[in-house]
Amino acid sequence: MYLTQPLHRALQQHPGRTATIDGTRERDFATHVDRVARLASGLRELGVGRDDRVAMYALNSDRFLEHLMAVPWADAVLAPVNTRWAIPEVVHGLNDCDARVLLVDDTFIDAVPALRAQCPGVKHVVYTGDGEIPQGCVGYEELIAASAPVPDARRGGDELAALFYTGGTTGRAKGVMLSHGNMVTSAMGCVAAGFIVAPGDRFLHTAPMFHLGDLAHWVMQSLLGNTQATVPAFDPQRVLTAVATHGVTVTFLVPTMLRMLLDHPTFDPATLKNLRRLVYAAAPMPPELLDRTTETLPNVELVQAYGMTELAPAVTLLSPADHTGPHRYSAGRAAPHSEVRVVDVGDRPVPAGTVGEIVARGGHVMLGYWGRPDLTGQAVRDGWMHTGDAGYLDDGGCLHVVDRIKDMIITGGENVYSAEVENVLHEHAHVATCAVVGVPDRTYGERVHAVVVPAAETSQDELDAFLRARLANYKVPRSYDFVSELPLSGAGKVLKHELRARYGS
Ligand code: ATP
Ligand code: MG
Repeated sequence: MYLTQPLHRALQQHPGRTATIDGTRERDFATHVDRVARLASGLRELGVGRDDRVAMYALNSDRFLEHLMAVPWADAVLAPVNTRWAIPEVVHGLNDCDARVLLVDDTFIDAVPALRAQCPGVKHVVYTGDGEIPQGCVGYEELIAASAPVPDARRGGDELAALFYTGGTTGRAKGVMLSHGNMVTSAMGCVAAGFIVAPGDRFLHTAPMFHLGDLAHWVMQSLLGNTQATVPAFDPQRVLTAVATHGVTVTFLVPTMLRMLLDHPTFDPATLKNLRRLVYAAAPMPPELLDRTTETLPNVELVQAYGMTELAPAVTLLSPADHTGPHRYSAGRAAPHSEVRVVDVGDRPVPAGTVGEIVARGGHVMLGYWGRPDLTGQAVRDGWMHTGDAGYLDDGGCLHVVDRIKDMIITGGENVYSAEVENVLHEHAHVATCAVVGVPDRTYGERVHAVVVPAAETSQDELDAFLRARLANYKVPRSYDFVSELPLSGAGKVLKHELRARYGS
């Protein structure tokens, strides 16, 4: 099992089918594979050898789809850079993975002098933009044109495919080592589930491609030889236009993006008429947002995935059918490739309905954290990846993710799941979005604190009355702050550790 394998099949079966679409640029599979094989050759000429890391610092594009295949084709390891990182974080990431070659697009090219100065391991920078080639950089199109195609290294199985940095939602991002087997296992399981991807789909990469939430779809869509379109970065208007013009049938969004899309002034469900399926994942889905999505897009099948980078990434899936039944607000059932349990602190499985830590086992469990065997040993015990998420299984075998263990608030000895309070706050019409965190409190140890982005004028008293009618007293926030926006990670998740720091934890 290897990531480049589907390209050989595509070449044989449908070389003339569109492989990539980026704006007005479309390339068929014959061209795509030729460019991948030439780029791989060019990378080797730049000195990239077996197991070397090749970093990509770029927004979504058809070229990103080429890098993804060319790097393993060249026998090397993918190392996507989180495009929301500040320069010191990029420096840390590049040095941490000891990247040999860096591919950079127009958006990030100005960072190159600083990166060169601080990342001595980077021997070459390939400029993937369309402008003038900056001094000292190698031009992407020039590299492809000057290089003769090389055969695929057919790197696969347990060999390292990629180093993905976790979302950094709970602290400094960790490098996760995923093998080809890990990534293909997860993708095959999702294909086998039968409701995420279908032959003939046209997928739009809307979420950032450095994040595995989106890249998981690259693997799935590649397996079926489907067409993949890109938008450089999430922007509601761009997404609506791309779906309409490229005949997009499926895309992936994180809940914050879905909310922005539905809230956008020019949002018109008619522009999404080709869309058959919408996959959402990566963060809790507020029931109010799910209900709104179903009402607004009644003809779109919804699929939820729960997962994490360390699990390549899918763990459970909520099918379109389960979206209409009693399990609608759960994260669904174990995906075909995954075994899921909820355990207590002694790693013993707990009965249905009891909250514990979610653990998962299968061929998708990461090889480990890069350079951190200590953290790997803590997270993977007896083959089970300990997710750090709290949840429970219901009687029907569906998983409910209640919170990250780190985000749970213990106030006066009671456990409060921040996500539960946020879900109720989201039901209030004047709340655009919100986050609930624990802040230090002399009496209660921690106090429930709500950070609210209002959609219309509201007050602490109004929200307090609303929540008191719907939640146990101890769960109701003791303090509020009204802000214009929440700090988000590159993957669009609320950075609660930043909020906690802001409010004194
Ligand atoms: P870091 O590990 O660096 O703090 P991160 O955990 O956000 O960042 P990812 O691997 O991108 O990095 O995200 C995985 C986490 O996202 C899961 O552990 C879980 O907390 C959350 N998550 C993913 N899918 C869902 C979902 N469907 N419902 C609720 N939470 C989800
Ligand atoms: Mg994590």
